[in-house]
Amino acid sequence: MIDVHCHLNFKAYNDDLEDVLERAKKIGVEKIINVGTSIESSQKAVELAKKYKNLYAIVGIHPHHADKLGQGWEKEIEKLAKKSKVLAIGEIGLDYYSYETNGVVDPKLQIEVFEAQIQIAKNVGLPLQIHNRQAGKDIVEILRHYKNLLKETPGMFHCFAADFKVLKNVLDLGFFVGYDGNITYKGIAKGETVALYELLSKTPIERLVIETDAPFLTPEPHRGGRNEPSYVIITAKYIAQTLGMSFDEIDTKTTLNANKIFNL
Ligand SMILES: [Zn+2]
Ligand SMILES: [Zn+2]
Repeated sequence: MIDVHCHLNFKAYNDDLEDVLERAKKIGVEKIINVGTSIESSQKAVELAKKYKNLYAIVGIHPHHADKLGQGWEKEIEKLAKKSKVLAIGEIGLDYYSYETNGVVDPKLQIEVFEAQIQIAKNVGLPLQIHNRQAGKDIVEILRHYKNLLKETPGMFHCFAADFKVLKNVLDLGFFVGYDGNITYKGIAKGETVALYELLSKTPIERLVIETDAPFLTPEPHRGGRNEPSYVIITAKYIAQTLGMSFDEIDTKTTLNANKIFNL
């Protein structure tokens, strides 16, 4: 099993990273991909990948940080993207959800930063790892526009949530789709219209990947506490049960998919 999206590069793991890694290893999580959201956290993800054999990095600017960038940020990300064990540019995309703390970052700015990073991915020959919150339509439009810059295996949407139409468009563009611990939550998330298990049931197994987004989105029954990569197994088991498949089959297929996206 591979956790294709988490943030062990965040300070939530400053005190016990080694224990977290040990638990993941013990339960069968062979590889962990840490994702940057800013220059600093991207740097940290690269450092961790250098230090630990089974850790990998994805570097990029999250749409939340689109309004906090200084001159020359593109060069910084491109430089980081060329480091060893960097697998993709992410998490990049658009986020139109209004957060209590910082509202919505100017969409024009978000789009500018997203487009610049599609170009960086092209420059360095890496796939994309996309963050979408209530912006699926615009993201699909942008990806279509830049289709000629994308790789044949263009990447994945992480922590998927959307409607069926966006899902279909994402699949048609060749992207893989990642699900997280929030699939174990009851009901439909605020602002969404389709339950995650319904989207899952319409996602071909050949395009499915599993992730934690740790420290966030902790699966039941640990919801409320800090998430960690070992819990990806809980989500995988839940997905297997929902799809009427065995855990081993889900494990094998999603690992194969992750290897394909990231050329592991
Ligand atoms: Zn995200
Ligand atoms: Zn994330």
